[in-house]
Amino acid sequence: MRVRQDHAGPRFHETTQSPDHHTIMNSTPFVSDPVIGYLFVAIFGAVIGSFLSMLVYRLPIILKRQWERDCREALAQPTTDTAETFNIAWPASHCPQCHAPLKIRDNIPLFGYLLLRGRCRHCQAPIPRQYILIEALTTLAAIVSVAHFGMGARGGFAFVLSAALIALTFIDRREQILPDTITLPLLWLGLLVNRAGLYASLGSAVVGAAAAYMFLWLVFHVFRLITGKEGMGHGDFKLFALGGAWLGWPLLPFVLLFASLTGALYGGALIVTGRQARSAPMPFGPFLCAAIWLALFYGWPLTTLYLRSAHG
Ligand SMILES: [Zn+2]
Repeated sequence: MRVRQDHAGPRFHETTQSPDHHTIMNSTPFVSDPVIGYLFVAIFGAVIGSFLSMLVYRLPIILKRQWERDCREALAQPTTDTAETFNIAWPASHCPQCHAPLKIRDNIPLFGYLLLRGRCRHCQAPIPRQYILIEALTTLAAIVSVAHFGMGARGGFAFVLSAALIALTFIDRREQILPDTITLPLLWLGLLVNRAGLYASLGSAVVGAAAAYMFLWLVFHVFRLITGKEGMGHGDFKLFALGGAWLGWPLLPFVLLFASLTGALYGGALIVTGRQARSAPMPFGPFLCAAIWLALFYGWPLTTLYLRSAHG
């Protein structure tokens, strides 16, 4: 397995870490044949991707039912709870149109979709392309994580973050929510992994998480005072804080700049082509997710490149 030494960028206020710290984390080849190694990684990624595509579909439904129950309770209204159980594990995978359960072979990540040619076996309803897109992206993320950070703690946790960002991207795109059940655990996990200095020093991660949250919080309230509108959701603050926890504060300007630019370009393109009204809200989460992912893998090389070209 090819193991590349990734440089963690300039160190900020870091004196206590030993220089061979990352070498230890990175240099454990797990099988002698890299092709077989990557094949295992790809299969693992596809299985997680299959789980994520299910999560993206079910989690918003579970949360909405929970909110409805909470609201009814608060208003002292009778609960009209449906008897059917619906959670992450139940009912088994089924067609969202005709509710026919999937056969085991249809449930195989990536291949199930191709086998069915994107249609339900029973009612021929098209299966949303989102499913195979999530599975393919997660498979790719697993391969890139291991290729970039090696088969160790850094590669493993980079894949955990990638998977969470993929789930958040698709949930926010469809439902315009960034569930706390994903953002908050990942925020704490970012601080924990950086306790071992995997991607940034612990000090930089703590400052990053707090500064990121407070910065967007401030922008939100100033924007609301001036325009009377809410420009983003609280989920965006938590997502940006998560980014700070994983990346450390020095990469936050990169994340914000990249997310704002790509978001503005995409939104502009939608308005120009008439696919979206100017007043329609557009989720910011997917752009933040893409920027955080890019920063974890290529933040320092890109920042260095930018600064070098800016200074000429
Ligand atoms: Zn069907």
